Amino acid sequence: MWWEDSKYNDEDGTFTDYLKQLIDMGHLEEAALGITEDVIKSGLNSLSNEQKRVFKKYVIDQFTVSKCKRCNDEITWIEMYDAANEHGECSSCVYNDLRKNKF
Ligand SMILES: [Zn+2]
Repeated sequence: MWWEDSKYNDEDGTFTDYLKQLIDMGHLEEAALGITEDVIKSGLNSLSNEQKRVFKKYVIDQFTVSKCKRCNDEITWIEMYDAANEHGECSSCVYNDLRKNKF
């Protein structure tokens, strides 16, 4: 199942940091917001199957990308906000672009 993927383990806290960022930036509302607050507090495994379905549809599917669209590297949670909401690229591709434009 998708929630068993190790990236949702949140061992380093970056997954919940990303969820907090989505809330802070006002991206989530109603059921998606309530469920996301539960995930931050108690973890993904605390959700019922129905809550997991809603979380997947309104949070994961809307606000995450798994691979960089340019180099196909995995996008980390730290890179996720800009990648999912703006350019779809990992930080090294963005950095390479900046460097190219500058010199
Ligand atoms: Zn990349």
